[in-house]
Amino acid sequence: MPTKNYYEILGVPKNASEIEIKKAYRQLALKYHPDKAPESHKKEYEEKFKEISQVYRVLSDKEKRAQYDRFGEKYEEAPFGRGFSEQDFRSFYDVFGGRDIFEDLGFSHIFEEIFGFGPTTKTRKVQEYGDDIHLDLEINLEDAFYGIQKEIELKKMIACDKCRGQGGESFKKCPACQGAGYEQVRTQSFLGILLRQKVCSKCRGRGEWPEKICPACRGEGRTREIKTIKITAPAGIDNEQTLKLSEQGQAGPYGGEAGDLFITIHIKPHKYFKRQEDDLYYNLSINFTQAALGDKIEIPAIDDPLKLKIPAGLQPGETIRLKGKGIPRLYGRDRGDMLVRVQVAVPKKLSREQRKLIEELAKEEKS
Ligand SMILES: [Zn+2]
Ligand SMILES: [Zn+2]
Repeated sequence: MPTKNYYEILGVPKNASEIEIKKAYRQLALKYHPDKAPESHKKEYEEKFKEISQVYRVLSDKEKRAQYDRFGEKYEEAPFGRGFSEQDFRSFYDVFGGRDIFEDLGFSHIFEEIFGFGPTTKTRKVQEYGDDIHLDLEINLEDAFYGIQKEIELKKMIACDKCRGQGGESFKKCPACQGAGYEQVRTQSFLGILLRQKVCSKCRGRGEWPEKICPACRGEGRTREIKTIKITAPAGIDNEQTLKLSEQGQAGPYGGEAGDLFITIHIKPHKYFKRQEDDLYYNLSINFTQAALGDKIEIPAIDDPLKLKIPAGLQPGETIRLKGKGIPRLYGRDRGDMLVRVQVAVPKKLSREQRKLIEELAKEEKS
């Protein structure tokens, strides 16, 4: 069990997004990959690799992460090498963006060795997953206030409908791997000759091969199309938050499961308000008689204008808080606050009448 805080281990803040966590894990996993370890530090690298993989396994899973956040140190995970599921395997695999990089690095080998699972421990055929897609979406503060539905057009790989993603018909045993889906590769390492299993490059792990290749997708089982995608950003969404649309990414080749679609929200600056979490800040300028005597005025809001009571004797720079007049909380019932920062404007020019009155006031203050 790691003794340090999981977030510290990955070097990310507690509120890190899924993408930040993935990125951090990827970087560390590449750095501490046991294949890269100098011989004298083999064990250390392996331990570190296990540790970060364990942490990633928890933090990359919404439910597990929520549990960890709640129970912290008391959160108990199954010990290493046991209790890892297909899903975990997929999530590690995803980090490296696909089968090829994964294999190039010998990860199937390392995962199998360290965790006791991996594609080579299974007799089932490997399916390739489609890549994730990352998009940015710019919205207004009003959209974040009310929530918004948007349709976007996206060019992406989708499963070929001619062959239903199969890539062809009349499937026969793959001639290259005799249906195993793998081929043996001999590699030279410091341990001597290593026999590794590598996904068959002809059938890419399927173990079979169509006699009739689908002409629409040329056997890949997917085609590039323009798709309309409906995005729903809920009320209260904040800048830099990312929405995940499961399986809306690229279709996998040969009928493999699609990747996910991630949409990062960017909120345009607003002409009146600055947002900080769920609070809104508004700068108000009043004149000094309003500050001295108090007043009732109206200020803008995203929905209905607000009535603001300026108390008599208000000092320049003071902030008035209007509870519950900010942004709706994401998935909550209440709202943040509106904070009105008040500046008192000193008149640059006075009419004769105003000058007279202020001079009266000055005399009054001196006496
Ligand atoms: Zn094959
Ligand atoms: Zn096809």
